[in-house]
Amino acid sequence: MTASLFSGLFITALLLTTLAKLWLARRHLAHIAAHRAEVPAAFRAQIELASHQKAADYTSAKTRLAMLEALFEAALLLAFTLGGGIGWLAGFWQHAFGATIAQGIALFASVLLLSTLLETPLDLYRTFVIETRFGFNKMTWKLYLSDGIKSLLLGAALGLPLLSGVLWLMERMGGNWWLYVWAVWVGFVLLLQFIYPSFIAPLFNKFAPMQDEALKARIESLLQKCGFTASGLFVMDGSRRSTHGNAYFTGFGKTKRIVFFDTLLQRLSSSEIEAVLAHELGHFKHRHVLKRIAATFLMSLGFLWLLAQLMQAGWFYQGLGAAMPATALSTAVALLLFFMVLPVFSFLLHPLTSYFSRRHEFEADRYAAQQTAAADLASALVKMYHDNAATLTPDPLYSTFYDSHPPALVRISRLQT
Ligand SMILES: [Zn+2]
Repeated sequence: MTASLFSGLFITALLLTTLAKLWLARRHLAHIAAHRAEVPAAFRAQIELASHQKAADYTSAKTRLAMLEALFEAALLLAFTLGGGIGWLAGFWQHAFGATIAQGIALFASVLLLSTLLETPLDLYRTFVIETRFGFNKMTWKLYLSDGIKSLLLGAALGLPLLSGVLWLMERMGGNWWLYVWAVWVGFVLLLQFIYPSFIAPLFNKFAPMQDEALKARIESLLQKCGFTASGLFVMDGSRRSTHGNAYFTGFGKTKRIVFFDTLLQRLSSSEIEAVLAHELGHFKHRHVLKRIAATFLMSLGFLWLLAQLMQAGWFYQGLGAAMPATALSTAVALLLFFMVLPVFSFLLHPLTSYFSRRHEFEADRYAAQQTAAADLASALVKMYHDNAATLTPDPLYSTFYDSHPPALVRISRLQT
């Protein structure tokens, strides 16, 4: 492999993935437009034409923004790599700190801060233009800013020690560094699972124990029936930021919690809430979270091993617009380049992960249908599609590629059989 051959490979892969993203999005837009005039027959009794068209327009607006984002991200990636951005920043920080771990941390921090700042206008457009236009946004400028600052501080508090540890291991542990780094990464992810419900999530939202005694009694008897213990039922003030609704589990073992968005509780009947909870319990019973985490651990082991091979080759750096570090003491460049270009080469894994995710959704639905009434889950889903203005008519290929949840029509017709 030579540097120019690798550059060519990278540009080709970037071009192909960007074109594929745009092509899929165009198909999605065309499919939605073609089905905008009529509510699909299966939903005609529950969903009005106006709501169906709102969902079509909302999904189209988000898809068009995603097309713009795909182009912007590709340009940004090119500027950082072949445009010499990372090479230049690495040199700049080496000048300031020498070839040390501090240089590596400054390099990562500056690249992350720069990309976040450059992507902010698109994020602002999504929140304050699209979400507002369709009546979902509850976010104020003040809240947006305080969320941003909190995320930044939290990212620094968690990310800086992790990155220092990883860079130190990469430099000191010789040829097997990737095994040590992997072990640290696994520990870090597991630690996050434990501290997320009680320490991280409360920084952004308020969690109040569920007050509705009648509902609570119903939920507790369902939990007992399913043999599930949780350390509490909580209601989250999701309505602070948006009117979108949801329900989820967090934590592991004894710290496990069940969280309902206040927006969801307001809209669903007690038996529908029970059915939604039974679906979440289905994910738990089938160990979906554990399976997903195990899969990402395996993949990260493979990626770290690959990086260990690549970082010894000059063509890997030069092919991506950076100079190969002269000393073994600046591994940050390799780590950064690798994780920036990885999505370009792993784009084709999308359909695979989406497929497994949709299979898990079917399994959870089946479990819910056994524990509660399938009709309640179906009607809860229709309400959620309606309230979130989610399209009922996605392009089949687009959906196969990206959707973590099965299309409404397939999902609900399976519940009815
Ligand atoms: Zn689910």
